[in-house]
Amino acid sequence: MGLKTLLTDETIDKYLRAGRIASRVKKYAMKIVKPGARIYDICENVERKIVEEGGLPAFPCNISVNEVAAHYTAYISDPSTIPDRSLVKVDLGVHVDGYIADTAVTLAFDPKYDELNIAVETALERALEVVRPGIRVSKIGEIIESTIKAYGYKPIKNLSGHSIERYNLHSGVSIPNVKDFFSLSRIKPNSVYAIEPFGTSGVGYVVEGKEVYIYSLRREGKVKADLARRIIEEVKKKYNGLPFAERWLRNIVHSRVELVKTLKNLVKSKILNYYPVLVEASANPVSQFEHTVLVLEKEVVVTTL
Ligand code: MN
Ligand code: MN
Repeated sequence: MGLKTLLTDETIDKYLRAGRIASRVKKYAMKIVKPGARIYDICENVERKIVEEGGLPAFPCNISVNEVAAHYTAYISDPSTIPDRSLVKVDLGVHVDGYIADTAVTLAFDPKYDELNIAVETALERALEVVRPGIRVSKIGEIIESTIKAYGYKPIKNLSGHSIERYNLHSGVSIPNVKDFFSLSRIKPNSVYAIEPFGTSGVGYVVEGKEVYIYSLRREGKVKADLARRIIEEVKKKYNGLPFAERWLRNIVHSRVELVKTLKNLVKSKILNYYPVLVEASANPVSQFEHTVLVLEKEVVVTTL
């Protein structure tokens, strides 16, 4: 947290390595995600593959089904499986020494979703064609919005892409998925961005669900309870401010009830951030595609291709 991204040959190499690993793991995920598969096993296998390839997860593997747009990861003992005829988003992050790659793909297990996927993937391709130093982020949003609308769908207006810095997944600049007159920011050279259009056949915005399976350390507070203290120590040491899953703490305490209660208390005392599951407001299916780009002075490299 708070470490400024310095793009040198060495840090560029780490961003590229994270990107190559993310790309390989995404291809692996596309093979194991299928109707009937347990979401718990998918998340664990994706995260294990990231480590096998030489990276570390930059956040828990997100598997979001149908109207769930983002932030679903398996919880401890999660029995849920990929439903038949579903639309499944796989969003994964890899870091190498804190240098992050963030990428997502959506798999349609019913051909009725194919066109929505084409709309959103085309929007991402168009955005990647124009991203360069100096372009307004609102211009990128305008291109995403018009591409998705041309297919008869809506972009999700309250989800956006983001700038990335070392150990900082959302480092301040947002890349809107609609033409946003209020975002005056421009793409800066020597910066890293994740571009991630979301599209839907629904009303086009998400609301927070009740479930929370992902957290991150917000500040190091003094706590009395032994379990809370052990959680803070563990996540500080292992994740350095990056998001983590409830599931990743399963060896700290045997009772899930106790773990979740402690996590909720740490959210209340503002020591942890929490990321509720995000659901399309009209409960219609959502598609997402995402790549990470390294914007240099004279070239733009998509690290997760
Ligand atoms: Mn992502
Ligand atoms: Mn992202």
